Amino acid sequence: MATETNKPSTDKKSSKSTGFSGMTERFGAREKDGIVRCDACPVLCRIRPERSGACGRYANVEGELARVDPLVLLEKSRAPGGGVVPFEGAAAEWNGTLVQQETFVTAIGAGTTYPDYKPAPFIVATQYNDLETVTVVSESIFSYCGVKIKLDTDKHLGAEQADILCDGQRIGHVTTGEYGSQMLSIGGVNHLTGGSKREGKVTCNTIMALCNRQPVELVVAGGCSVLVQAGHAPVIDGVTEQRMRVGCGSATIGIFAKQWHGHVDEVIVIDEHITGVLSEHQAGRCLGMEPSGIRVCGRRSTPGRYFSVANSGQGWGGTDISDPFSIIESIDNDVARPGSRLLMTTTTGDESIYCVLDDSLQPVETAMPNAVQIVVDRIRENCEPSLCSVLFVAGAGGSLRAGVTENPVSLTRSVKETLTRVTMGGAPVYVWPGGGITVMVDVTRMPASSFGYVPTPAIVAPIEFTLPRDQYAAMGGHVDYIQPLEEICDYYGDSAQSSSWDPKNPWPLK
Ligand code: SF4
Repeated sequence: MATETNKPSTDKKSSKSTGFSGMTERFGAREKDGIVRCDACPVLCRIRPERSGACGRYANVEGELARVDPLVLLEKSRAPGGGVVPFEGAAAEWNGTLVQQETFVTAIGAGTTYPDYKPAPFIVATQYNDLETVTVVSESIFSYCGVKIKLDTDKHLGAEQADILCDGQRIGHVTTGEYGSQMLSIGGVNHLTGGSKREGKVTCNTIMALCNRQPVELVVAGGCSVLVQAGHAPVIDGVTEQRMRVGCGSATIGIFAKQWHGHVDEVIVIDEHITGVLSEHQAGRCLGMEPSGIRVCGRRSTPGRYFSVANSGQGWGGTDISDPFSIIESIDNDVARPGSRLLMTTTTGDESIYCVLDDSLQPVETAMPNAVQIVVDRIRENCEPSLCSVLFVAGAGGSLRAGVTENPVSLTRSVKETLTRVTMGGAPVYVWPGGGITVMVDVTRMPASSFGYVPTPAIVAPIEFTLPRDQYAAMGGHVDYIQPLEEICDYYGDSAQSSSWDPKNPWPLK
């Protein structure tokens, strides 16, 4: 087993030893020569005095196993009159004031349940209004986890199912695109455990960096490179994306048809998936528009809606074209008229061209009239800012439940019945239906740097289960290990880190 002995970081406030309230025997073991064996994960580091273990999360401080990072408490305060306001000052020092229902012990810095026959590091009793609640707090080790990434862009990143590479390792794949967004799936147990040691390590590091909101460069095999950072615009092949498309080509026709009417005779909205043609589209017909005689390439799905007008690529509207006229298959001499006004645009309005058919019915680019330009600008106005969304997905329905209760299925049932609230770092999670406790959380709603790792490799993430105390007892919870919130706050004092509650999140105890 590993015996990494890094020097513990001195610029972080160390948590107190996990020997709090008689827990010495539950975490770590003292060996000869002042060595402490950490048993917070299967690596079982033997840590020399004043050194830290392989993950950098635990250290040997004066012969005791200590969690290196501070325990994070979420704080909020009440406005005069009882309204709730966020705590003033992000990451301010906790001032020692005990405010029962306004302090929430997150699992960040709490320590680990592993090897799971032990109760969770903290089982906290908190009075919330008239209700006594219990929150079971643990940093959990997830081998079954990954991230789903939503990138708001109509750019074609690569083929669906294409591998995603980082540092030359396969760490995920391109998955099914959503409306106006490309989707990536990173990590998962197969990449963490099923490939080479290096693949597992790079996958783990990438998940952790993405979840801690750091920028990560990903490469799609046979496609683009993408710089992904949660809460920021994606950077595709070095170009920062600005706008998410307003809708598909057909939707764009539907939204703006009336505003174009009278100013143009035809509009073609070029889109990788569904290209819209105004005069054929139901929206144009309802406005009484005449056929323009302009036929686009691709497969006609329904009137005015065309699939596959071009290949996917980095050109107009996520296609591979740079010349919009290249998607015009034919112009019908019997229907088209010289002088007809044609607008071609993308679903973001980033590319557009206005032209008039000459006497030989060829489109000739012409200055765009102001009335048409206004509508193109409105397409752009209706496009939301492009963003990277990073959601951490993990299976919490395994052995970590033993840190909560002697009868794990009772926790699963309680979560499914929404009697137990699950949070991660105090942030709300979505619990997937069906078996197990598969959770999904937006990492931007969690405190910064909430995630860690262990070299098995696996991700360490905070998780809290909150429920009424009587129900905790009824589910076979570890009631002998319940500690009052005040006791924990007293013990940790200024070694805990107070973090501002994000008012966009529900208060975890509410
Ligand atoms: S790698 Fe595992 S055993 Fe080693 S210090 Fe970290 S949690 Fe403890």
